[in-house]
Amino acid sequence: MITPMKFNEFMQGLELMFGPCEQDPDRRNDKISVYYDRLKFTSERILDRAAKHLIDVHQYKRFPLVQEARDAIDQVSKQVSDPVFQEEREDTGFICEVCHGTGHVLRDAVEENGYQHVVAKACQCKEGLRVEARWKHYFEKKRQEAML
Ligand SMILES: [Zn+2]
Repeated sequence: MITPMKFNEFMQGLELMFGPCEQDPDRRNDKISVYYDRLKFTSERILDRAAKHLIDVHQYKRFPLVQEARDAIDQVSKQVSDPVFQEEREDTGFICEVCHGTGHVLRDAVEENGYQHVVAKACQCKEGLRVEARWKHYFEKKRQEAML
């Protein structure tokens, strides 16, 4: 999931090109929240590319709609040169049914004291392997930071 800060950069980049996403400054943050809610599961890399794609193709002198941003994300997702990504999205059109291509599955977990929460597990598919590798990398970094 993209961080709100990174997402803000994406929005600001587009605003520079197309004008404010919301004319009323008091409601700008609300508007950004809506976009964030709809687009937050996009990777940083894809979001960067989508912004460039919009700058290239968006023809209107107004901020792109959520739908238009989504189209751009779909477009660049297909173009990404990552071989795993290409194999799943282009060559076979395969999208894992278990995780719907996100690479992770959410499960409800109930602790002994009855406390319920949601845990994310990496899926068994190729995207899942990629997610697991990213998590490993993340935890390894945290572990190293903790040791400093
Ligand atoms: Zn999967």
